[in-house]
Amino acid sequence: MVRTGRGRWRAGLLGLALSVAGCGGPADDGWPADKAGPKVVVSFAPLYCFALNVAGDDAVVRLLPAAAGGAHHFQPTDRDALLLRRADLFLVNGLGLEGGKPAQVKKASGNANLKVVELGGRIPEKLLRQGVCHHDHGDDDPHDHGTDPHVWLGPDTAVYLVQGIRDELKAADPAHEADYDRRAAAYVAKLRKLKADGLDMLKDKRDRRLVTFHDSMAYFAHDFDLKIEGVVQKVPGTEPNDKYLKDLIRKCSGNPPVRVICAEPQYANSGAGRELVKTLQYKGVADAALVELDPLETATAEQLDAGWYEARMRANLDALAKAMR
Ligand SMILES: [Zn+2]
Repeated sequence: MVRTGRGRWRAGLLGLALSVAGCGGPADDGWPADKAGPKVVVSFAPLYCFALNVAGDDAVVRLLPAAAGGAHHFQPTDRDALLLRRADLFLVNGLGLEGGKPAQVKKASGNANLKVVELGGRIPEKLLRQGVCHHDHGDDDPHDHGTDPHVWLGPDTAVYLVQGIRDELKAADPAHEADYDRRAAAYVAKLRKLKADGLDMLKDKRDRRLVTFHDSMAYFAHDFDLKIEGVVQKVPGTEPNDKYLKDLIRKCSGNPPVRVICAEPQYANSGAGRELVKTLQYKGVADAALVELDPLETATAEQLDAGWYEARMRANLDALAKAMR
């Protein structure tokens, strides 16, 4: 994760103003010259995948370049502002995930007509979960988030994001309303099937408890009827202290013990999850298992395609189905 202060970013954006004034044209700003339809930028990987599915050939979708650094800690640069200069829509998760950065990068883009949409705002209050995000958002984000922003990890809440994308594209491009409706409906059907298949894969598991790596899986656990007993890294990227780890070990080695401990590919170098599994095995939980669960927060546009979200979610379900009893 690259974290830069606000001052450095501002200096970079001044550079954009100068270079735009200098060349005077939109050349090579990330958009094809010969393609009609709405220009859509999204703030992180799952939204890119959802938007691709709804857009089809009728709109052009781009992932914010800064998003490759992760959904929580991204720092927009000139490249992001340049991409947004001619965009029509900037679709973000909201619910505190991106903090104030979408508004800042819109301002830097100089595109007063850019519509920034927080898709998470589409999700009914009663489906939102509270207060588990303890991420360090840095000095430039004063918000204290009460809502868990990881809504893309539950198929039920993801449906609202897809429908939000559909409605924004229909409003931007009414000529293709029926096409957006059709593609969104087809993708929502895939999400419903994903949930049904996941529940089916896990239906015989009597012990549905797990420890997740960061506080990201509450919507996933809710939709697939799992129970999260603890979190390895309360603050992502920061290893837990001894007391915290001790408490977690005590909890997991109780009766009945918690056997399934999760790691995330993004934090592959973290030893805390592995350490916890080893300690549990030493304490007699012989079949404690480390399972890789991807919160789908980081990926570059090159790694993504229309099937990426579903494939990663199914891989998560597969890994859990193998580890759970
Ligand atoms: Zn997260």
